[in-house]
Amino acid sequence: MPHAYDPQNIFARILRGEIPNKTVMETPHTLAFHDIAPQAPVHVLVIPKGAYVTFDHFAAEAGEDELADFHRTCAKITAMMDLGAGYRVISNAGDDGGQEVPHYHLHILGGRPLGPMLVR
Ligand code: AMP
Repeated sequence: MPHAYDPQNIFARILRGEIPNKTVMETPHTLAFHDIAPQAPVHVLVIPKGAYVTFDHFAAEAGEDELADFHRTCAKITAMMDLGAGYRVISNAGDDGGQEVPHYHLHILGGRPLGPMLVR
């Protein structure tokens, strides 16, 4: 995947404080906030504060401290949210992956049965 980072993407603007967000958790390397258009009763986005475009970009180039902080934060969110009897973590990458915002993020979804992973 190409990793050219657009600093004007909406999550970069959230990180700079230019756009408000409903923060769930913030750490030195990670921000988690509620999705503006939730697809389930719980729909939290988790983003690294660094300029990474996709999962593979983050996994390949982030430092150990960023990687650990990001994933530990995700784990804390799954523990603190009312997810019910399970949850789903999704990361879309690139055009065919359906990625709308070109700043790496995980979707944490839950709070109801989520059905099949893909419908088409
Ligand atoms: P993706 O298609 O994986 O890039 O997901 C982008 C997600 O960002 C979508 O679920 C949007 O609803 C969400 N989103 C876009 N703008 C905002 C915003 N300002 N605050 C919170 N979530 C947003």
